[in-house]
Amino acid sequence: MPVKSQTITLVGAGLNGPLLAIGLQRRGFRVEIYERRADMRHARMSAGRSINLALSTRGIHALTEAGLWNNMREIITPMKGRMMHALNSELTFQPYGKNEAEVINSISRAELNIALMNGAEAEGVRIFFMQRCTGVDLKTGALHIRDEQTGQQRTIDTEVVVGCDGSASAIRNEMLKLNRFNFSQHYLDYGYKELTIPGAPDGTHSLEKNALHIWPRGNYMLIALPNIDGTFACILFLPFEGKDSFAQLKTHSDLLGFFQSRFPDAVPLMPQLADNFFSNPTGAMVTVKCSPWYVEGRTLVLGDAAHAIVPFFGQGINCGFEDCTCLLELLDQYGADWARVFQEFELARKVNTDAIADMAVENFVEMRDRVADPRFLFRKRVELALEGKFPRLFVPKYAMVTFHRIPYATAMTRGIVQDHILAELCASIERIEDLDWGKADRMIRAELLPLELDS
Ligand SMILES: Cc1cc2nc3c(=O)[nH]c(=O)nc-3n(C[C@H](O)[C@H](O)[C@H](O)COP(=O)(O)OP(=O)(O)OC[C@H]3O[C@@H](n4cnc5c(N)ncnc54)[C@H](O)[C@@H]3O)c2cc1C
Repeated sequence: MPVKSQTITLVGAGLNGPLLAIGLQRRGFRVEIYERRADMRHARMSAGRSINLALSTRGIHALTEAGLWNNMREIITPMKGRMMHALNSELTFQPYGKNEAEVINSISRAELNIALMNGAEAEGVRIFFMQRCTGVDLKTGALHIRDEQTGQQRTIDTEVVVGCDGSASAIRNEMLKLNRFNFSQHYLDYGYKELTIPGAPDGTHSLEKNALHIWPRGNYMLIALPNIDGTFACILFLPFEGKDSFAQLKTHSDLLGFFQSRFPDAVPLMPQLADNFFSNPTGAMVTVKCSPWYVEGRTLVLGDAAHAIVPFFGQGINCGFEDCTCLLELLDQYGADWARVFQEFELARKVNTDAIADMAVENFVEMRDRVADPRFLFRKRVELALEGKFPRLFVPKYAMVTFHRIPYATAMTRGIVQDHILAELCASIERIEDLDWGKADRMIRAELLPLELDS
């Protein structure tokens, strides 16, 4: 049973921290969050923090439970599919789902963060800014905090600490010192840079608004996500080194030459290209896996702190928000038996967060390369046709991950089987009309029926 007087201390007021705080505070706990940054509602955001996120079913479910989703509709832009920009500027649209309801939603990270912090404070959560956690004593729960303005260090006694402090988590770093703590981090050889497409002079979007735009170029790509104010938040993904890499783009003329030859239709839309490119930092992308995620009933890591993933399935925060849903459900089931809750939480989530981590890396190849391949686009059409005919059995992997709450591990296993079925059915045909429906029926029943589809 919740111990009403218990104070739960969260580290990190990014995206997961405030959402979890809302659920905990509503269950009768007192929640305090220590955040190393200044309050973005009052301070200027640092360059390179204007990324947009794609919110989908898992994230929306958690936000709905927190009572925040309805208001957020005003700050999201639904994206119905991918708009591919070929080198010759030809456009091809590929819908994400089988109907208009299956969309992903572009939202500015800052707007989402602000809505979450406002929501948490409205529930009574206290957020302390410019307070960096420099360590935690995992035996006693003593949390070491440095005031970023004064440099003063202090120690806070805590009962339960949850590290929501992102991919470079200070809480996880303490756990690393424990015996038999499993940890791996894998950086991609690729970096990313935030760029902007401003709105048209009349405030409208200068590209199709309800799409995620992609300029796939083999081993690299540019993407653009719409904002409600007519702008697009773009991300350029390039290798750090070698051919067509960040290392080669040293001067304004290198940059312009590269863009004019690789993304010619984007250049006229990006008057601040060089400013953005040379003032924004180049980000790195990492997959982090670790275990255990908790120390007794005292300390837990959650979200990117427990399982950072690369952004190519648009699932990092959807997965983190699903962590919050799961943890709160377990708390309802077991009460404030934190050791039990943490143990069950990792048991329920780890297999799934490992699965989405692997699928996210695989999806990079799909986004930057395969979306431009006509055979791949044909297979996507066949996938949707199969889903239309066998809606409870054949659900495309992208849809299982994005439009359902089917466990990620199930989506991965079924996705592998479905890939095999698709390869067989598409091997010798060029048109959907030639699909062998009898063979499809036999294969789907034989190979997918035995696999559980729980959503
Ligand atoms: C380029 C890119 C694109 C992405 N696109 C998507 C997308 O489309 N869809 C999606 O679902 N996900 C996406 N993600 C992933 C998503 O951004 C992360 O999964 C999400 O931000 C994780 O939330 P978090 O709260 O766990 O960590 P964060 O959002 O990183 O928040 C951590 C917070 O902790 C604070 N903090 C860190 N260390 C300390 C400390 N020592 N003391 C106190 N405070 C501390 C930080 O200042 C921060 O506020 C993307 C990520 C990147 C990099």
